[in-house]
Amino acid sequence: MKGFLLSIVALILTVSLLLLAALFLPALLRKSQAEAVAGALAPTVILDAGHGGRDGGATARDGTPEKELNLDVTLKLAALLRAAGYHVVLTRDADYALGEGAPVGKRKQADLAGRLALMKAQENALFISIHMNTYPGESCRGTQIWYAPAYETAKTLAADLQTAVKAHLQPENHRKVKAATSAIYLLHRATCPAILIECGFLTNPQESALLCTPDYRMALALVIFEAAAKNFQAGTCRN
Ligand SMILES: [Zn+2]
Repeated sequence: MKGFLLSIVALILTVSLLLLAALFLPALLRKSQAEAVAGALAPTVILDAGHGGRDGGATARDGTPEKELNLDVTLKLAALLRAAGYHVVLTRDADYALGEGAPVGKRKQADLAGRLALMKAQENALFISIHMNTYPGESCRGTQIWYAPAYETAKTLAADLQTAVKAHLQPENHRKVKAATSAIYLLHRATCPAILIECGFLTNPQESALLCTPDYRMALALVIFEAAAKNFQAGTCRN
C-alpha cells in the first residue's frame, strides 16, 4: 500500500512537472532563438554525473549503484536543456571514469582532475554535479545542495534550486544550501559557477525507493532544469 501511494505521488509530481515544463519550454525556446539571432554569447551547461566505471559510489537499498542513478538524472537533464536550446557538455555520458588509465591508487584523483580540466576548458559556463547521499542510520532524507564559495552566482543558483525542490518535490525539506569546503574537490577548485546536488539519501528506505524510480529521477531533472534556466534567463552566469 505504501509503495502504491509512493508511486501515485511520484506520478502526480511527474505529470505536474511535465505540464509546468510544457508551459515554459516554448518561452525558453523563443528566448534562446532570439539570443542566437542577436549574437549573444551562448552559455554552456556542464553536467557532471558523479562516479562511473570502477567507482560505483554509494549503493541504493535495492543494490543499484549510485553511478547509474547519477548518470540517468544527468542524461534526462541534458535532454531537457538541449531541447530548450542550451549548449550542454557532459563530463561522462556512459559508465566510465575519467582516470581509468591512471595507476591504481591514483585513479580517483585522476578522475576528478579530468572533470576539472573539462570545466576549465569551457568559457561562460555553469557546472552542475549530480550525486546521491548516504548517512549512517536510515532517518536522514532530502536533497542537499552545495555551491562553489568563490561564485556568488553559484550560491544564487543553489538557493533557487533548493526553492524549486521544496516547491515541487519535498515540501518538508528545510535544509539550507551550503558553501563547499575543500572536501568537495570540484567545487572548491571551480573555475565557473558550480553546484553539487545530493539528490537524496540512498540510506533512507523510502527515498532510496523513489530515487530508483525513473519518474522521480525525471522530476529531479525538471526541477534542476527550472533553476538553471531561471539563472541563465537572468544573465547571472556571465562569469
Ligand atoms: Zn556520490
